[in-house]
Amino acid sequence: MKDYKNSSKKQKKELEDTDILIIGGGITGLSCAYFLKDSKFKVTLLDKGKIGMGISSRTTAKVSYIQNTIYQELEKYYGIKKSKLYFDSQIEAIKIIGDIVKKLKIDCNLEKVDSFLYTNEEKNLPKIKKEMELLQGFDIKVGEVTSLPIPEIPVLKGIVVPNTYVFHPIQYLLGLWKKVKDSILYHEDVLVQDLKLQEDGTYLVSTTKGTLSSKIVIVACHYPFFIKPGFFPLFGYLKREYVQAAKIKPSYHFTAINIDSNLQSIRFYKDYLIYGSREKKLTSSYDYEAEYQKSKDEFLHYFKKEPEYSWMNQDLMMNDSLPWIGRINKNQPNLYIATGYQAWGMTNGTIAGKIIGDLIHGKENPYSELFSPLRSMKPNLIPALTNGFEYLKAYSKTYFDKNPKFQSKRVMILKINGIDCGVYIDQEGTKHIVHNLCPHLKCKLVFNPLEETWDCPCHGSRFSIDGDVLEGPATYSIKIEE
Ligand SMILES: Cc1cc2nc3c(=O)[nH]c(=O)nc-3n(C[C@H](O)[C@H](O)[C@H](O)COP(=O)(O)OP(=O)(O)OC[C@H]3O[C@@H](n4cnc5c(N)ncnc54)[C@H](O)[C@@H]3O)c2cc1C
Repeated sequence: MKDYKNSSKKQKKELEDTDILIIGGGITGLSCAYFLKDSKFKVTLLDKGKIGMGISSRTTAKVSYIQNTIYQELEKYYGIKKSKLYFDSQIEAIKIIGDIVKKLKIDCNLEKVDSFLYTNEEKNLPKIKKEMELLQGFDIKVGEVTSLPIPEIPVLKGIVVPNTYVFHPIQYLLGLWKKVKDSILYHEDVLVQDLKLQEDGTYLVSTTKGTLSSKIVIVACHYPFFIKPGFFPLFGYLKREYVQAAKIKPSYHFTAINIDSNLQSIRFYKDYLIYGSREKKLTSSYDYEAEYQKSKDEFLHYFKKEPEYSWMNQDLMMNDSLPWIGRINKNQPNLYIATGYQAWGMTNGTIAGKIIGDLIHGKENPYSELFSPLRSMKPNLIPALTNGFEYLKAYSKTYFDKNPKFQSKRVMILKINGIDCGVYIDQEGTKHIVHNLCPHLKCKLVFNPLEETWDCPCHGSRFSIDGDVLEGPATYSIKIEE
């Protein structure tokens, strides 16, 4: 039972044992906390950084049910009924977000917009047609188009649907956080490193600030890190995307994505155009600077303007196009996970909170079976083998290609006292030396000059120039011990 109801300070110094531990305070963790905050359980949330500042803070935050060609992919893998069920889950998630914003009066610029899906490649016309037919079958009013409201982007054919949204993701997350923080315990800057099932059925959780035990654990940290070692490549892979933004005139009110070989993603925030492109499998290119430059050049080409802001972000894609939400191991009913949103985490992270909340409360949820990580993923043997081959290729490349040509002059990969080290010399001439080996699966790291990080080109872990973990699946730093 909760024993902290009247405690005014929920961020306690010491970690305490708990009933439910949520690992990660992004849209998934906060949505879980929202649906569990009024339960009889003592709920604790841990984040390795600041709450709301993970991948969710760098998203383009389209809150949409039109998601590439998801409905035809799901129809192919699992049949029309499941494809429709996924559609229903996205509509429900959009409603939940709208209701939360209204109820909590969150000032996050939630705006209803039309959304476009388009192609510029002849070979993709049948896919546009098919997605249109499926959406019409789901009773959605779909229009056909041959242009976007913004004339700079050429379109061969596309469709447009109503009742989708955009919002400011950080403002939404902070609004949600403001609501839940008084009903749960939380700790920021605590990295969870390991989970062990104990004989009494509880989990012993090791962190950088000590251990705690929890009866139930929800892994909401974007990567399934230590709980599913074979996740990559058997079930999924990572995609990285580059985002550019600048003020443009006039300002528009719609979102758009294409389905072509070079992804284009468009949304607007006030006077700003936010443009995503160069989406690639992480393993296919680790010349981050070149990809970034191409994305910048594209922006300049279309909009005749230098971008004012640039960033990159990565998300987990599933081989069968369906996120993983729910229990991950049939022998461990108290271990939950939510991940693999394929760049559609605003809706899927929200529905994950509802599904996991319902499962913990013993309530039926219409989508729990659809998203269950225990589903059979047999149709995906070929993508699993392809991913495996690509991981091996990326892994070996980092061993043979020790100082890739794109590493800047201020970066070296050297052996110091027999240890492989990455050395970065900053503007002031200070050397930052780290271990050049990812603690996750021992891939060599590559320097990312765009964001000044050490990145794993195989599984996506990222580290600061001083070796702290910025993104998993790694749960240990690459600092050199004194
Ligand atoms: C370029 C790009 C654009 C996108 N655009 C959209 C869009 O328009 N619409 C949409 O719906 N989705 C979009 N997405 C997808 C969406 O951003 C993600 O799916 C979603 O934000 C993931 O949320 P999360 O809560 O799982 O992860 P996060 O937001 O990363 O939250 C996880 C949290 O866990 C913490 N954490 C990690 N490891 C540990 C650990 N070991 N111990 C403790 N804490 C830990 C992190 O610090 C973080 O705060 C986009 C993704 C990309 C890459």
